[in-house]
Amino acid sequence: MKVWIDGKVMDASEAKIGVLDHGFLYGDGVFEGIRVYDGTVFRLKDHLDRLWRSAKALLIDIPLTPRAMTEALLETVAAHGAKNAYVRLVVSRGIGDLGLNPASCPKAAVIVIVGNISIYPPANYETGIPLITAASRRLGFGGFDPGIKSLNYLNNILAKMEAKQAGCQEALLLNEAGFISECTADNFFFAKDGVLMTPSADCGLLAGITRQTVLELAERRRIPVREGRFTRLDAWTADECFMTGTGAEIMPITSIDGRAMAACPGELTRLLLADFRAFAAAWKE
Ligand code: PMP
Repeated sequence: MKVWIDGKVMDASEAKIGVLDHGFLYGDGVFEGIRVYDGTVFRLKDHLDRLWRSAKALLIDIPLTPRAMTEALLETVAAHGAKNAYVRLVVSRGIGDLGLNPASCPKAAVIVIVGNISIYPPANYETGIPLITAASRRLGFGGFDPGIKSLNYLNNILAKMEAKQAGCQEALLLNEAGFISECTADNFFFAKDGVLMTPSADCGLLAGITRQTVLELAERRRIPVREGRFTRLDAWTADECFMTGTGAEIMPITSIDGRAMAACPGELTRLLLADFRAFAAAWKE
């Protein structure tokens, strides 16, 4: 695993950040997770756009241009050496005083981490994984916008812990009104009678780049799609469902709260996973 800090690339074991960095002290920062497929960075512009958007929302001034960030990323990918990799871009508020005042941090810190990725074993894509609904709700727009990809993931981590305690790898989070929002680090899709459905952004979620890719692939296949507000009952009685994310890609779901899907992986899940892999492999930017 290689890390870029302040223009230097080093082994992860040598990379250090200061204890007064507000990213560490307060989760005050933003990040992106990006895949490299066969030497090409997948949807880099979309990831950079989202990183800058998240930073703007938090009034963090990223001290690199998108071009310089891309160069740092490519240099770190090259040092890592593998054709397939996972990139983490982290921008924290930087070093400041012990108090949480962001104005005490004169310069944001940028870190690029490149490593291998193996979130789920290949067998999971054949068999799927079960979900439970977490009791912890996805915090909505009343706190800060869930569309900001910030360094504060405690809401999601609490739900992940509930999943683990229930013997599952993943959890579905509802928003405060009881509608499905997303999984802990992935978006949620289900299908019923040939219609693909996913919670709309107003349900309070991070609109993933994989989600967007799946919506585009579904459109190419002329699969009818509905973005909207859905309940657990909709998901429990679906024909099939899956979750999407940069790390997981498209992961089939076997059951939700013990209610088995009619098929896993279902027909649309298989089709979209194959399309996604072909699309990612052919990606050129
Ligand atoms: N929701 C959350 C909360 C996430 O952290 C992520 C990213 N891991 C996603 C959804 C999926 O986004 P993407 O497809 O851009 O990776």
